[in-house]
Amino acid sequence: MFVVDLTFDCYQDTTLERAEQAINRLVNALRFNGQIIGEEFPTVLKDGFFVTRVMCPTEDAMHPLNNSPFVKHSIALLHDAGLLAPKVKVIGQDIHSNGADNCSEPSCYILYTTYVHTCSPLYCGDDFLPVPLFSIPAIANGDYKTLIKWQEDWQACDQIQINGATRCEFPALAEIADINSDLSRRGKDIAKRIQFLTQKPVYYYLYRVGGVDKHSELARRCPSCNGHWKLPEPWFGLFDFKCEPCGLVSNVSWDFQ
Ligand SMILES: [Zn+2]
Ligand SMILES: [Zn+2]
Repeated sequence: MFVVDLTFDCYQDTTLERAEQAINRLVNALRFNGQIIGEEFPTVLKDGFFVTRVMCPTEDAMHPLNNSPFVKHSIALLHDAGLLAPKVKVIGQDIHSNGADNCSEPSCYILYTTYVHTCSPLYCGDDFLPVPLFSIPAIANGDYKTLIKWQEDWQACDQIQINGATRCEFPALAEIADINSDLSRRGKDIAKRIQFLTQKPVYYYLYRVGGVDKHSELARRCPSCNGHWKLPEPWFGLFDFKCEPCGLVSNVSWDFQ
């Protein structure tokens, strides 16, 4: 991922409030389009310029060709607030994060995230690198907001169940582990949509923790078709189970690894 500064020049008098609103709108639009990643984007006012620091999945993510209709609309509205379209300055590559998928034709995709991952929740099925969202067709209404919202909810549930300090722990776990939870249903719908748009299989990840013992965990069947889905070797060292007809992947319970 790349650290990028967006500099907004004021070409006419504006107020802090109007400028802030307009910048926030653009930042949201960019986020729902996968052009920037993360949740916090500090903005400073310096020498008459607003500078917003963002993270981009690729060096060229901010290229206008990637802009969604909502991003274009938000840039137009910057002008009403007295601001020019942002100048983009790539500061450099973030040393903590992994790269972005570069495959032109991945053979399949995996929908996967965790509470510690600040990257695209869509992974390449050939090398398990996060796929910049704007490199696949828009999912709905010109961008990927439904997918970003699904990721936010998944990460929030994961965080709650990992912390294990509230009564929400088990309902949160059920959301990410049960095939019939609201979150799983939303995720599988999105996976189906991406499969339709890309004409590539998209696997949906089901979290797994608990269980009785390692033996019964290894013998676990696909929760959708009850078929055998254990892989001879874990896929990317992470997914022990994969059901192709159902488009599902999962792991041996984290309690018995
Ligand atoms: Zn790849
Ligand atoms: Zn199945």
